Amino acid sequence: AMESPLVQETKRIVAQFDYTGTDVNNGVKEFLRQMNEGLQKDGTSMSQIPTYVTGVPNGTEKGLYLAVDLGGTNFRVCSIHLNGDTTFNLTYSKVAIPKELMVAKTAQELFAFLAKQIEQFLKTHHEDHFEAHIRRRNTISTPDGFRDEHIFRLGFTFSFPVQQFGINKGTLIRWTKGFDIPDAVGKDVCALLQQEIDLLHLPVKVAALVNDTVGTLMARSYTSPGKTSTLLGAIFGTGTNGAYVEKVVNIQKSVDGEYDKSTGDMVINTEWGSFDNQLNVLPNTSYDIELDKKSVNPGIQMFEKRVSGMFLGEIVRLVLVDMVKNPNIALFKDDNSSTNDWRSTTNIGSGSSLHKQWGLDSSLMSIAVADNTPEHSTLRMQLEKELQVDSASFEDTQAFKEISYAVGRRAARLAAVALGATVLQSGKLSEASDEPIDIGVDGSLVEHYPFFRDMIYEALAAIDGIGPAGAQRIRIGIAKDGSGVGAALIALVAAGME
Ligand code: ADP
Repeated sequence: AMESPLVQETKRIVAQFDYTGTDVNNGVKEFLRQMNEGLQKDGTSMSQIPTYVTGVPNGTEKGLYLAVDLGGTNFRVCSIHLNGDTTFNLTYSKVAIPKELMVAKTAQELFAFLAKQIEQFLKTHHEDHFEAHIRRRNTISTPDGFRDEHIFRLGFTFSFPVQQFGINKGTLIRWTKGFDIPDAVGKDVCALLQQEIDLLHLPVKVAALVNDTVGTLMARSYTSPGKTSTLLGAIFGTGTNGAYVEKVVNIQKSVDGEYDKSTGDMVINTEWGSFDNQLNVLPNTSYDIELDKKSVNPGIQMFEKRVSGMFLGEIVRLVLVDMVKNPNIALFKDDNSSTNDWRSTTNIGSGSSLHKQWGLDSSLMSIAVADNTPEHSTLRMQLEKELQVDSASFEDTQAFKEISYAVGRRAARLAAVALGATVLQSGKLSEASDEPIDIGVDGSLVEHYPFFRDMIYEALAAIDGIGPAGAQRIRIGIAKDGSGVGAALIALVAAGME
């Protein structure tokens, strides 16, 4: 039978998101090159930032710590009790970051909001602790009248590129993920947060600056099954990034500041979101180009723009907008509509989010891929609710599914480039051992997008130097609440260094 123009067009577009085994291998080669370039000098596309964290935990660490996480969509505050037996108890609150604060005039506006959330959290969950401090205020002579041993050590997870100068010192290099407060660039983000905490007289010391990937790595290593220490922590959420354990001898650029030299290792925050900003090997469809052009940071974070949750939905949206505008394709149209004006003939309400930048959340892709009901009824309902698309046809929903699958699959195979290259860089596969090579992952995309991990494994097995046997040794596990527990573990390490 003749295929409809919609089916043909869907096939044509899906093919543009193919990312073959050869592409994966070319990606790995270039990823290794850019990783090592970043270890040699500053100003490279992957920053390869030394974190001053020189080892990963083994599960015996103990104590009560605070952690906050500013990384994307939400601000999280939590307290963590490490039990010292690979388990922990976590108390948690989260609030959406108001959009206007992401692009505030001054850094102070954003950080005052964050300090307020910490105050609220302490009042709600640690009232006794908090009141005791207030009572002691005038009798004890620490700056705020708090007893030093009662001051919460806080790990500040700040998931943007920073130049770190010590375990609790670091200046913002640039914003990503839709944030844009030029005033904050170049400033020490720990000092900015401490200032606002002190204005509220809270018993809190910002003890450690933590990238969420480093936190994920630490948390996974504390909780990981068996006695294996974790090699790599990776995030696939709003953004994407990874941190891994590197040998200090491989870090040829200078590392200023104090750190423990006895382990011979240091955790490196790769900032792989900006892998291949120069587009030597990354795929680059017309949709990728358009997304980049209309973003707040064109030409930057090019890997992230093809891999992470914030961008995948937008890629799909740009594809759909193109299809909807083409009268021959008849996406989201009544069967009997025949005019060329797509605005009047589509089944899309005029205020549809489909026509707004960022209007399609990547969670809708997960729903689409997961919906295998004969009528795609879940997807159809969700299209109505989220995109105001009324009575989509089966061909419409099928096209939506296939495009979502293709964009998600390309992202997973690109993710495998980063994971596979890091495994090869570690040299662990050539060590005679059958210990698993442990990787901790976190983020909604890897947690919820159907088969994301399976698609990663499939691509890992296709990498020269890994192959199916190597892929089997790689153990990818979810590091739940990674940034919270991990930040507590780094605050613990930092408190020991005071
Ligand atoms: P963050 O990275 O901000 O800490 P998350 O890990 O929850 O938080 O990631 C949020 C991102 O993940 C958003 O970009 C959102 O679009 C995307 N996302 C949320 N749920 C899903 C899902 N079910 N499938 C795919 N992507 C999702």
